[in-house]
Amino acid sequence: MGIWLGLACVFALFALPCFAAPLLQLKGGSVTACEDEKTNNDLILADKYLQRFYAFQPDLTSRSKRSLPSFSSKLKDMQNFFRLNQTGTLDPDTLAVMKTPRCGVPDVEEYVHNRGNRWQKNVITYSVGKYTNDLPQATVDSLIASALDVWAKASPLRFFRSYSQHADIMVKFVTKNHGDSFPFDGPRGTLAHAFDPGEGIGGDVHFDDEENWTADSNGFNLYLVAAHEFGHALGLRHSQNPESLMYPSYKIRKTVNLLSSEDIRKIKALYGPSIQRPFHPRLSWNYPFNSWYSGFYFPMGLKDKCNPDLSFDSVTTLGEAIFFFKGRYLWIRHNNKNDIKEGPISNFMPNITSKIDAAYWVPQRSAAYLFSGSSYWTVKGSQVKGRRKNISSLGFPTWVKQIDSAVHIHKTVHTLFFTQHLYWRFNENQKTMEDSYPRKISEDFPGIPTPISAAFYKNGFLHFFIGVEVYKYNIKLRKIIDINKANSWLGC
Ligand code: ZN
Ligand code: CA
Ligand code: ZN
Repeated sequence: MGIWLGLACVFALFALPCFAAPLLQLKGGSVTACEDEKTNNDLILADKYLQRFYAFQPDLTSRSKRSLPSFSSKLKDMQNFFRLNQTGTLDPDTLAVMKTPRCGVPDVEEYVHNRGNRWQKNVITYSVGKYTNDLPQATVDSLIASALDVWAKASPLRFFRSYSQHADIMVKFVTKNHGDSFPFDGPRGTLAHAFDPGEGIGGDVHFDDEENWTADSNGFNLYLVAAHEFGHALGLRHSQNPESLMYPSYKIRKTVNLLSSEDIRKIKALYGPSIQRPFHPRLSWNYPFNSWYSGFYFPMGLKDKCNPDLSFDSVTTLGEAIFFFKGRYLWIRHNNKNDIKEGPISNFMPNITSKIDAAYWVPQRSAAYLFSGSSYWTVKGSQVKGRRKNISSLGFPTWVKQIDSAVHIHKTVHTLFFTQHLYWRFNENQKTMEDSYPRKISEDFPGIPTPISAAFYKNGFLHFFIGVEVYKYNIKLRKIIDINKANSWLGC
């Protein structure tokens, strides 16, 4: 809004005859009588803009006047960068660019030391030190992870979230002076800045928290700005090409294929070609199979994992990770409870579009079994293997139409299936249902309420999800050890 009001005013001024005289002589030139406050503000803006982004040094002492590049030559540099007419005067097109919100990193090389700097490693850690209040933290986390993923897909780089204050890329939302001699400027103007790869502040990314950060196009889209800033954090410079993500001015873009061929060429020049990553929960942590946002103009709504009413349909370990299913949505937790990926199930396992009642994983076969109603799928990696089968093929009587939960105990090679107040035991070696089942849950798992909506096994303990709670159960002692909120597993 401010831009258009400002421009309208400039256009109006241009209509006045006295503006036929050179419009801009910032220092030492004659100031026309017509110059009003508005124009003065434009001069101040231009002066600051060129100082900040084009290494313009105002000649405060007349002695140094000759040795320093003049205002108008710096203005021409700027016009050249933005492919404007190199008039050397502050014309409306130039002003419009200067008033467009942008990245705080300078456009000219001389300002930037360590040209061509890169990380001397392919595994890079990041940490969010200070959040904005504009968006839920989980949304910020997801947008940041997705923005890094843009670069991960185009390079051999992998990004791991850390919770230390010494991660390679420290992300924070700050205002005005924030300790790095590049203060932010309130709403609009500079939106964010980032530092070249390196020790300490190197690689860090700061967002101006006086902007309205959004996950859509209502304010400044955090995903777009973050993806741009991470480009700097990896060593990239600004591009003159408006189609490139590394173009300095803020621009609404389609979030599909965010990188231009120039961006891709430049990241590859620094780090080499991208690597095809097979799906493996431990290795491909930051790389869900399908692009997170492919097909979406803006990131889709994220589920509130910390909703106190949240329960899960099914939960299973899968390698080092734990998968939590709810409706058609999936959270994947890797080791650390705050290290969580999320999205529609089909983003991670194409072809699975229904809700999952029960799930378990057999490590010996590297296979997961996902149950929906009276049928189940076998999944290896992210691929569904074969057809969906009927649960009767596992040996269930025909009156069992659905399973509440399932858990595989790899020590005994047994899988337990729970439905209502009963459970079955399946021998995975012999692939048969054991004879003396079903048995009553209350007899063999004293104190565990039914129905059990989800269950998984880890480190000798069974974890039973009942509604919004999770019961930690010691199998040997046949005893409940702990009761917690179900979503405590998601860091809530
Ligand atoms: Zn930038
Ligand atoms: Ca700002
Ligand atoms: Zn900063």
